[in-house]
Amino acid sequence: MKPVPFNYLCAYSLEEALQHLRHSDDAKVIAGGQSLMPMLNFRVVQPSLLIDIGKLVELDFIKEEGDQIVIGSLTRHSTVASSELVKKDLPVMHEALKHVAHLAIRNRGTIGGSLSHADPAAEYPMLSLLLDAKIYCESLDQKRIIPADKFFAGSLSTVLAEDEILTQILFSKIKSHTGWAFEEFAQRDGDFALAAVGVLVDKDVNGQIDNLKIGMMGVGETALRLNSVEAILNGHGYSEALLEEAIRSLDGLIVPNTDLHASSEYRLHLAGQLLKRTFKAAWDMASTKK
Ligand code: FAD
Repeated sequence: MKPVPFNYLCAYSLEEALQHLRHSDDAKVIAGGQSLMPMLNFRVVQPSLLIDIGKLVELDFIKEEGDQIVIGSLTRHSTVASSELVKKDLPVMHEALKHVAHLAIRNRGTIGGSLSHADPAAEYPMLSLLLDAKIYCESLDQKRIIPADKFFAGSLSTVLAEDEILTQILFSKIKSHTGWAFEEFAQRDGDFALAAVGVLVDKDVNGQIDNLKIGMMGVGETALRLNSVEAILNGHGYSEALLEEAIRSLDGLIVPNTDLHASSEYRLHLAGQLLKRTFKAAWDMASTKK
C-alpha cells in the first residue's frame, strides 16, 4: 500500500520543529522512519504533515555526566551499539542492542523513535524501565522530565503530548560490582522478541540478593518492570526454591498476548525460563565481582 498524501517539512532546529508541531492539528514527527513509514504505508496513521527531525544534530549525541550517561533522542541504534561509553557503563544495553532488527534498520532507527513508538517487544522501552531512565521531553512552552515507569501508556502509546518532542534520555551508569544479564528469544535473528528479560543484581555484604531489577518485553501491553518479583528475591540468600517461587509468581502477573507467532502460554513459559537463566547469569557475575 501507499500512504495517503501528506506535506513534508524538514526542520533545521528543535525550535523550528516545535513551532511546526504546535501549529498543525495532526502533524507527526519523523526521525529514522523505520516504524512510522510502515504505519504510513499501511495507513494506520494518516497525518497531513510530516516534520522531519533527522537533521537535528543537537539531538544526536552520547555523553557522560558524572554517574549518568545521557543519550540524545536522535542517536541511531548503530551508534549506541558501537559506543565505548555504553559498552563500559551500560553493558546490558550494549548486549540488548545486538538483538535490535537488521543493519539497515539499525543505521536509521533512533532511540527517541523507539521510545516514542513504544512497541512492547522493543528493546529500548524495556531497557529504560530496567535502568530507571529519565526521559526528557520538550514543547514550545515547557520542558518535562518523565521517569520511564510513567512514560508508557499502553501498546504503541505513551504520555507524550502531541506538541512534544522527546529530546534526550538519562541512564544511571551500572555500578562495577553489579551483575547483569540479558536474554532474548526470537524466531529469527533481527525479529522482534517473543520474550526477553534483563536483570541487574548486587550481592550485599551478607551474601544476599540486593538491588535486584527485572525488566521484561514481549509479554504484555507494554514493556514491564517486575517490582513484585524483585520483592520476592531481594533481601534473601540465593536458592533454587526461591527462584522457582519467583518464576511461579509470573503466572497471573504477566498476561502475554496470543498472536500468530506464539500462544500466551508459550510466552509465559518462555518468560519463566529466560528469567531463570538471566537471574542465574547475573547472580554469578555479581558473585564473581564481589
Ligand atoms: P520513526 O519511525 O521515525 O517514528 C516512530 C514514532 O515515534 C512516530 O510516531 C514518530 O512520530 C515518533 N517519534 C520519533 N522520534 C520522536 C521524538 N524524538 N519525539 C517524539 N516523537 C518521536 N525495534 C526494536 O526495538 N527491536 C527489533 O527487533 C526491531 N525489529 C524491527 C524489524 C523491522 C523489519 C522494522 C521495520 C523495525 C524494527 N524495529 C525494531 C523498529 C526500529 O527499531 C525503529 O527504528 C524504531 O522503533 C523507531 O525509531 P525511528 O527513529 O525509526 O522512529
